[in-house]
Amino acid sequence: MNLILYGPPGAGKGTQAKRLETTLGVPQLSTGDMLRIARREGSELGQRAAAFMDSGQLVPDSLVIDLIRHRIGSKDCAGGFILDGFPRTVAQADALDEMLVGLGRTIDAVVSIEVSDDEIVRRIVGRLSCGACGTVYHEMSMPPRVPGQCDHDGSVLVQRADDTEPTVRSRLGAFRSQTSPLKELYGSRGLLLEVRGDVPPDEVTRGILTGLRHGDGR
Ligand code: ADP
Ligand code: AMP
Repeated sequence: MNLILYGPPGAGKGTQAKRLETTLGVPQLSTGDMLRIARREGSELGQRAAAFMDSGQLVPDSLVIDLIRHRIGSKDCAGGFILDGFPRTVAQADALDEMLVGLGRTIDAVVSIEVSDDEIVRRIVGRLSCGACGTVYHEMSMPPRVPGQCDHDGSVLVQRADDTEPTVRSRLGAFRSQTSPLKELYGSRGLLLEVRGDVPPDEVTRGILTGLRHGDGR
């Protein structure tokens, strides 16, 4: 199963990707997580991406396209993948098409998680993330079992530097101007599966799995 999770920042893509990884047995490919790891490691790529990320802008296409190109052909993606946060521009979608042709694969569905802007701001300013495994929590609606600690590995939970209200507004602006054309693009190919994102996480997962079973998307 080759999936793209589409939606604005804070829609719940990472939350759903982690659940679907377990249910579908295919890995999550999150460009946001890859970039944060590159920054932590102090690589040249991480350094080039930092200023864009901190100001809520998209990083240049070539950086994320290279990240995905290196990852998508690897062994653990042989049975499929869940793209989370990529593609985010038409140029990225075109590059993905090319990579998939090269690999002889196609996208099965593009899952669009639908959430209002007010809910997005509420979700992002309360988001806590595990620096080790990337699992996300919300301080009010999805708290960890022990405050400040990841349920899976006990690591300290942190608030992302870009999870502030002003940065969320610019990330939403980038989503509208640069990413939203992709919805029409994938819709015109009959790949779009729209699910309600303003319901509890289990219900969102159910909506996705039911849609995929019914062959929505493709
Ligand atoms: P994205 O990957 O799309 O940026 P996340 O999965 O990181 O979004 O979710 C953003 C925030 O919203 C997190 O704090 C997460 O715990 C919370 N969240 C995700 N899905 C839901 C949901 N269905 N209901 C309430 N809160 C949610
Ligand atoms: P995310 O974790 O998906 O919210 O991404 C965090 C930040 O990383 C974004 O605000 C962008 O600066 C950058 N980023 C992640 N994925 C992409 C992408 N596909 N294209 C451009 N920038 C990206």
